[in-house]
Amino acid sequence: MSEQKIPYKMYLEESEMPLAWYNVRADMKNKPAPLLNPGTHKPMTAEELSPVFCDELIRQELDDTTAYFPIPEEIRSFYRMYRPSPLVRAYCLEERLQTPAKIYYKFEGNNTSGSHKLNSAIAQAYYAKQQGLKGVTTETGAGQWGTALAMACAYLGLDCKVYMVKVSYEQKPFRREVMRTYGASVTPSPSMDTEVGRRILAEHPGTGGSLGCAISEAVEAAETQPGYRYVLGSVLNQVLLHQSVIGLEAKAALDKYGVRPDIIIGCAGGGSNLGGLISPFMGEQLRGEASYRFIAVEPASCPSFTRGRFAYDFCDTGKVCPLAKMYTLGSGFMPAPNHAGGLRYHGMSPVLSQLYHDGLMEAVSVKQTEVFEAAEYFARVEGILPAPESSHAIKVAIDEALRCKETGEEKTILFGLTGTGYFDMLAYEKFHDGKMTDYIPTDGEIQATLDQLPQV
Ligand SMILES: *Cc1c(COP(=O)(O)O)cnc(C)c1O
Repeated sequence: MSEQKIPYKMYLEESEMPLAWYNVRADMKNKPAPLLNPGTHKPMTAEELSPVFCDELIRQELDDTTAYFPIPEEIRSFYRMYRPSPLVRAYCLEERLQTPAKIYYKFEGNNTSGSHKLNSAIAQAYYAKQQGLKGVTTETGAGQWGTALAMACAYLGLDCKVYMVKVSYEQKPFRREVMRTYGASVTPSPSMDTEVGRRILAEHPGTGGSLGCAISEAVEAAETQPGYRYVLGSVLNQVLLHQSVIGLEAKAALDKYGVRPDIIIGCAGGGSNLGGLISPFMGEQLRGEASYRFIAVEPASCPSFTRGRFAYDFCDTGKVCPLAKMYTLGSGFMPAPNHAGGLRYHGMSPVLSQLYHDGLMEAVSVKQTEVFEAAEYFARVEGILPAPESSHAIKVAIDEALRCKETGEEKTILFGLTGTGYFDMLAYEKFHDGKMTDYIPTDGEIQATLDQLPQV
C-alpha cells in the first residue's frame, strides 16, 4: 500500500479487536524469576497467594507457558465502549520537526479514566466478580489506576476501596471526586485504618506517603476483610498480559497498512503499558521472526532501569508483599515529589526487567523539565494534552525523530501515548511559571536504599 493511503487515524473494526491476550513469557527463553515468599524465600504457591489475589489472576500470574488467554466476552463488550483505540500517524508533528521519520502513536487516553489502566482494571474486576467476591482494595498514586478500577467496579457492581497516596489526595481533589462518582471509597495513605499505616505514620510523621506505603495498606485491608482481594495496576505479569491488547491492536492496524516500526518507545513506571505495547513485537523478535529497537523511558528522579539493581526486593514499603526479582532502587526509596506521579515506583515489571537484563531492550532516563517542553510542543501540534507520564515517551520519540533528521534515515517510530493530562494542570502551571525543577537523586541516596535490599 502506498504511503499516501495511510490515514491520519487508523481505527480497526470492532471485529478486528483481539480475541485473546498474548503472554510474552511463553516465548521468553529466560523466564522472569518467580515471586518469593518473604519469610521462606521459596517461590510463592498459588495457595499462598490466594488470601491476597483472585484465583484466576493467580493462574495468569504464574503461567509462563500459555501464549494466549482468551478474553472473556463480558470484558470484550466493556472494551468495545472505548476500543479499539486509535493509532495515529503524527503527520503534524513530523511536519513541524521536518524529520524524514514516520511517527505513529497508540492513544490510550480516549476513556473517562484517561489512561490505559482501564484495560487491566476491567479484567481484574471481572475475575473478582466471577469468584463471587464482595469487593477489591487497591492503592493509587497519581489517581489514574484508582479511577480506572472505580469505573470497572461500578460497571460490575463490586465494592472498591482505594488507598490514595496522601500528597496526590490533597493535590488532586478532582481525581478523588471522579473515583467517588464511580462509587469508590478513597482513603489518604498512610492512614490510621491499618496497622501498617499506623506504623509508617509513627516512623515518618507528616509523610506525604508513597505508592509502596499505599500498597502495604491495601494488601492489609484485603487480607483482613472477608470477601475482598487486592488488585494492582502495574508491575505484575497478569497486568502486562491484559495490557497486551494495546500492542495487539497496534500491530493489527500497522499490518493492515503494511507498516513496520523500527523503534518502539514507551514510558515506564511499573512497566505495564510498555510491556503491553511491545509484547507482540517482542514475541516476534524472541521467535527470530523480526527485530526492533525497544526503548523504555523513565524519569531521572526515579531511574529503576538505568540506575537500579537487578535483584530480589519487596514490592512495598511495609514489606508485607512477596519478593520480586526486578530492577529496583530499593523498597525504601522515596522519590522526590515529581509530577509524573504514575512513574514514581521503586521497582519494575519482572518481565521487562528480565528482557532488559538480557539485552533485548534499551532504557533511558529524562528530566522533568525537558519532558514538559516535549509535552507542550506535542500539545500545540497534535492537539492532545498529554499526561506527564506519557510525555516521557513523547520526549524520546522526538529525540529519535530529530536524530533521523541529522542522519537522513527514514525510520518508523511507534510510541505509546498512554493518557491525557487534564488532572495535571498544577504541574503544567508550575512549568509555565518557570517554577519546575529537576531533581536527580545522588549515588549516595540510591546506595542507601539499595543497601537495605533483602539478602536472597
Ligand atoms: C500509570 C501510568 C503510567 C505508568 O504505568 P506503567 O505501568 O509503567 O504503564 C503511564 N502513563 C499513564 C497515563 C499512567 O496513568
